[in-house]
Amino acid sequence: MPPPTPSLLVSPVTALWGVGSERAALLARLDIRTVEALLLHRPHRYEDRRNVCRIAALRLHEPAAASGRIVAQGVKTWKRGTRSLFEFILEDGTGRLHCRWWNLPYLEDRFQVGDTVLVYGKLCLLRPRTIDHPETEVIEGGEESSIHLNRIVPLYPLTEGLTQRWLRGLIWRTLNEFTGRISDLWPGLVLAGQPSREAALRQVHFPTGLPEAEAARCRLALDEFIAFQLPLQRRRRNLQLHAKGLPCGGDNRLIRPFLARLGFKLTEAQTRVLREIRQDLTGPHPMRRLLQGDVGSGKTVVAACTALMALESGFNVALMAPTEILAEQHEHNFVQWLRPLGVPVWLRTGNRKTTGEPTPDLSGTRCGAAAAPAGTARGPSLFLGTHALIQPGFAPAGLGLVIIDEQHKFGVIQREELVRKGHYPHLLVMTATPIPRTLGLTLYGDLDLSVIDAPPAGRGRVRTFVRTVESLSKVWAFVAQKLRDGRQAYIVCPRVEEEDLVTGTKAAVQEFERVQESLAPHRVALLHGRQTTEEKEQVMAEFRANRLQALVATSVIEVGVDVPNATVMVIENADVFGLAQLHQLRGRIGRSPHEGYCILVAAARTSEARQRLRVLEQTHDGFRIAEADLQLRGPGELLGQAQSGMPNLRFGDLARDLDLIQQARALAAQLVAKT
Ligand code: ADP
Ligand code: MG
Repeated sequence: MPPPTPSLLVSPVTALWGVGSERAALLARLDIRTVEALLLHRPHRYEDRRNVCRIAALRLHEPAAASGRIVAQGVKTWKRGTRSLFEFILEDGTGRLHCRWWNLPYLEDRFQVGDTVLVYGKLCLLRPRTIDHPETEVIEGGEESSIHLNRIVPLYPLTEGLTQRWLRGLIWRTLNEFTGRISDLWPGLVLAGQPSREAALRQVHFPTGLPEAEAARCRLALDEFIAFQLPLQRRRRNLQLHAKGLPCGGDNRLIRPFLARLGFKLTEAQTRVLREIRQDLTGPHPMRRLLQGDVGSGKTVVAACTALMALESGFNVALMAPTEILAEQHEHNFVQWLRPLGVPVWLRTGNRKTTGEPTPDLSGTRCGAAAAPAGTARGPSLFLGTHALIQPGFAPAGLGLVIIDEQHKFGVIQREELVRKGHYPHLLVMTATPIPRTLGLTLYGDLDLSVIDAPPAGRGRVRTFVRTVESLSKVWAFVAQKLRDGRQAYIVCPRVEEEDLVTGTKAAVQEFERVQESLAPHRVALLHGRQTTEEKEQVMAEFRANRLQALVATSVIEVGVDVPNATVMVIENADVFGLAQLHQLRGRIGRSPHEGYCILVAAARTSEARQRLRVLEQTHDGFRIAEADLQLRGPGELLGQAQSGMPNLRFGDLARDLDLIQQARALAAQLVAKT
């Protein structure tokens, strides 16, 4: 037998018998261009046709398959031909079955008296036995019946112009043609108790039972997860083989005064995480660590301490945040924290290069007390910024540590671009979107994980309510009361401008006018992503100083903004946001000893959506919320558009394949270790 040649599978579908350019074009619409893609076209469900029912035994309202020969058929029309009914009658020797379709007169051409047809549906009438709009397949004799009948048959996603029967036949013939020629993807990897890839492909299309179909799906999913893990594990291994960790453990001379002046004690969780981080910073390899902690759990202080360790050790530090507002808020904090310690803090965003001091000539900057060239009094610095840090203009020497805040807003590529500004600097990425373990292991399989699992004590709790649009006037009265009590409020709208009258989606610009009236005489301002940096900054400064009582904003306030006195949040059209995002948003208001109130407003007619929102009334556990979001809306929505590197999975399911993902991770590590 010739050696297995997987390359056969990459030949175009036109290499298959019966596929010309026309059919190939139709298949291409399903993203099927190669033989391999055809074999990986996953059935969206199966139909058990082992038990085709006798027509006489069909029961009312119960789904079942039946088959017979067409003994009569025809179309009736009325209302001058604008309405029609197509009907055929099947006979199987036990009885007759009427099948009817409204307003699909062209079906008449698809069937002929004498055809053997398999139908699947629910009986809606007993006298005469009738199924409306059943699924159908014309059965031809011979081999046909072993593919389409008397077995569990696959049903595929289709496109106009292709039939189940044709596609099923094509896949059947292709599997037969390639028998013995489909090899496993990972030679040398022993997958005990698992079918071969070839067997799995056959079983996923033509299983002998549903458990076999699921086992085959798992096998193919495992291949997908391994393929996704390989580059991650390879990167991890390369780092361990080739890169030495810069000595960034520090000597406490900056951290000690920093903590003394901070005004609060670090929580146990923060201290534990810092211990894990310090171990990395003094370890043999560069740190690659993901820090997860719910909104408000105090990640910024952990980032500050980590930065100080590197700074004490004489290295520069870069911290990248996804928005200007957030970068500027970090600047606000870090300047207060680090200037008294004599550490320069620079800000670099799309709009501004630095603040506070003239732009330093970074090309000449060296760091480390010993390495500082004569004439540069400046020691190691902290560089804050947005994506602007990735630009070629930013090239600090002696970069020892890179911190990325709200990591999920960036892609892996951006993360790596910043890391490459140094020579294997340490990397700490932080995220407040609690990522379900399945996703975390898949997307961040190359990172170690630290979790801040408890927020600082002394926080007021946040109570969450779901309300309909009809009760908005009551909501405004409640907000006004809280403002009179001295608190501040956020009002969040999904859009900046242009309300959508059809869906009732509100826009901040228009809502601003209305809220101003409803909350008068309190001062209200507008905040959204299309304002200039100066405008945004001024608004945030006034809000922080409590000269503004309420902000009408878009979700730009989602990440990181921290104004403890703001304890009320109204989110309009809450149903257009994902649960994880809403949880992020409400994290803005859990930051003072005062009780917080988050009011989610959704239209009354979207009762299903309001049901979904109730998850937020019931729990504050970010992980549970993320799991719910993953189940309800899928990984793309959960992590947002900016998340690149999302695997394209046909068989794997990120919402439930935790076991497979863990297995794949271990197997990929095995493979990488061998090479
Ligand atoms: P996030 O994890 O969402 O980035 P922050 O770092 O912004 O949260 O912290 C939220 C708030 O909690 C900030 O005002 C911060 O000063 C405060 N904070 C952080 N750690 C503690 C602590 N150990 N004790 C009290 N307050 C803390
Ligand atoms: Mg933060």
